[in-house]
Amino acid sequence: MPEDYYDILGVAQDASEKEIKKAYRKKAMQYHPDRNPDDPEAEKKFKQAAEAYDVLSDQQKRQRYDRYGHAGLGQNGGASGFQDISDIFSAFNDIFGGRGGFGQRSRRTRGRPGSDLRITLPLTLEEIAEGVEKNIKVRKFIGCETCDGTGAEGGMDGENYIMCPKCDGTGEIRQVSQSVFGQFVNVQSCPECNGEGRIIENPCDDCGGEGRVEGEETISINVPPGVMEGNFLTLSDAGNAGLRGGLTGDLRIEIKEKEHQDFVRDGLDIYTDVYLSFSEAALGTEVEVPTLKGRARLQVDPGTQAGRILRMRERGIPDLNSNKRGDQMIRVHVWTPQQLNEEELRMLEELADHENFQPDPEPGPPEKSFFSRVRDVFS
Ligand SMILES: [Zn+2]
Ligand SMILES: [Zn+2]
Repeated sequence: MPEDYYDILGVAQDASEKEIKKAYRKKAMQYHPDRNPDDPEAEKKFKQAAEAYDVLSDQQKRQRYDRYGHAGLGQNGGASGFQDISDIFSAFNDIFGGRGGFGQRSRRTRGRPGSDLRITLPLTLEEIAEGVEKNIKVRKFIGCETCDGTGAEGGMDGENYIMCPKCDGTGEIRQVSQSVFGQFVNVQSCPECNGEGRIIENPCDDCGGEGRVEGEETISINVPPGVMEGNFLTLSDAGNAGLRGGLTGDLRIEIKEKEHQDFVRDGLDIYTDVYLSFSEAALGTEVEVPTLKGRARLQVDPGTQAGRILRMRERGIPDLNSNKRGDQMIRVHVWTPQQLNEEELRMLEELADHENFQPDPEPGPPEKSFFSRVRDVFS
């Protein structure tokens, strides 16, 4: 003879719906598998309580049971002999808060997930070359602390949920229609509870039942050396908090390269300009040039032509995926005087006819790579 359902839950025959729910909640927590691991006796009691609650919480099943006992439920009469514990969690997740009780039994939660967030992170070329740790403040939805993100007054411990009457807690509305082609089942998310299967009776004051509030979080990120404009870093679970305990969205951080006053970047290489006087270009000199790690001195040979590109090896940007490093290119400009006094004029006129002052370039077409580089500098 199976045990009496009222006895299993420890309630009177005339117990109210609320009393039955409360009693079941207590039993379910007492015999919960997370609290009684590998205890077949507790598992049996856990299943028994679920079966009793399944019958007594359903008005029709309860009436039949009251009138005919276990026989009234029969094969198709409705007692759900739960075989699998996970069936119990999915059948009564208004009791288990959608999370299977205490432990994080399943990451499936009822609330709607939060959206992904996208923010832009501007970095200087120096920061990109070295890699950098940044703390950024992100305005976003965060879980409401008052109600543990549930949206209900009293949070996880409260008894503030009622099963959605429209969809019986399934979160879905099924419509079966007949047509000449056969039977169609149309499944839609329940509009009454937004597909959550439950409705909050007393919403939390602080978040108005949303389970999340507008807030700010400081996020620390490590940017590796060598990133470039348009690269993304994705931090999972750092986006907007979900509604009523729904999953948190991701945070996508897009790298933006700040314009640099001295350099232009081309892949791993960086370009800079240096201006020489005519005398310096002709006689040779040493100039100071900016680099990503402070200033450096650079030797310029006598007779250096305007437009020449000097290379400083491995002074560019490191490759994100290897230990290669780009170069720093220095484009030489020779400054042509724009104003001359009488003495300067006389000296230059005197030099104008000298043989060494006549242009004598290397024969042949201009170097192609030079033009593509210069185009990159100006584009
Ligand atoms: Zn709240
Ligand atoms: Zn519903």
